[in-house]
Amino acid sequence: MQGVQVTVLAGGIGGARFLLGLRSLGHDITVIGNTGDDVTMWGLRICPDLDTVMYTLGGGISAERGWGREDETFRLKGELAAYRAAADDDSAPSWFGLGDLDIATHVLRTQWLREGVTLSEVTRRLCARWQPGVTLLPACDEPVETHVTLVDGRTVHFQEWWVRLHAGVAAKRIELTGASAAHPAPGVIEAIDSADVVVLPPSNPVVSIGTILSVPGIADALRRTTAPVVGLSPIIGDAPVRGMADACLAAIGVETSAYAVAMHYGRRPSGLLDGWLVDQTDKEAADRLTEEGLPARAVPLLMSDVDASAAMAQAALDLAEELRR
Ligand code: GDP
Ligand code: CA
Repeated sequence: MQGVQVTVLAGGIGGARFLLGLRSLGHDITVIGNTGDDVTMWGLRICPDLDTVMYTLGGGISAERGWGREDETFRLKGELAAYRAAADDDSAPSWFGLGDLDIATHVLRTQWLREGVTLSEVTRRLCARWQPGVTLLPACDEPVETHVTLVDGRTVHFQEWWVRLHAGVAAKRIELTGASAAHPAPGVIEAIDSADVVVLPPSNPVVSIGTILSVPGIADALRRTTAPVVGLSPIIGDAPVRGMADACLAAIGVETSAYAVAMHYGRRPSGLLDGWLVDQTDKEAADRLTEEGLPARAVPLLMSDVDASAAMAQAALDLAEELRR
């Protein structure tokens, strides 16, 4: 298949690494990015997952951290801390890493949003510099934020739970606030309707893909598109490959396994998937799912480099092609 229209629902690091591989195959890619991680800090609007996709595909990502910019410095953060210490102000977060280069993105984004420019248009303008080689759309233009209710009763922004608490306090509820008033951003539904293949990459099923699906209309579009919908498991051998997706899955009562995540998405038309890829070590899960009616294949799913991600992307497209027939 060449010149295929592929639409991908993506979070940050997992989605971006998958997209690097997919892009190398030369297809026409539209990315629907998660905006649930978005947060306002120091008066700046920050869109971590959109930026991770943009910087990764644009060649500006920090290879070591996987987020933020390469060759970054944190001088502004130090200045803010010095003022705050002197003023006895501990109201603002010190745990969120904002580098000097990265801040330029947030300053411009905030300025444009204040002028009334939509987040889609802001994202398009930022991408004009980075040339990610994909069309990057936010899931919605309205401000939404993932909030997490902890077992101790507190409700905190997702970033506070994830970055400050390292998901160390269990969550009992994860919710995309603002979702009910949100609409899919321009182009999102069209990208799902007109796709040849829709892919759910190995992004976090709860706080990346789950939040995108919380925007009214997006899950329905997935259910009705004529394109095959194929997903790749972010869970290998009953553990997330990176990060703390297990803590997110626990909060929604889903076991941390490639099988359980597939069952959580479900089989179309009531669910979202036509096919599912698990890692080669989870072959039993693939066999069981296939037997139960969801075609699944076991292939290597470790994104160790671009070639490995490209092979995963090709496996997803091959499965989609097989399902189309
Ligand atoms: P985030 O927004 O930066 O957390 O990134 P995503 O939501 O896009 O992706 C996070 C998910 O990617 C985690 O649940 C990881 O388990 C998964 N992940 C990371 N690296 C790999 C990998 O090499 N293979 C697979 N299968 N999943 C991965
Ligand atoms: Ca994220």
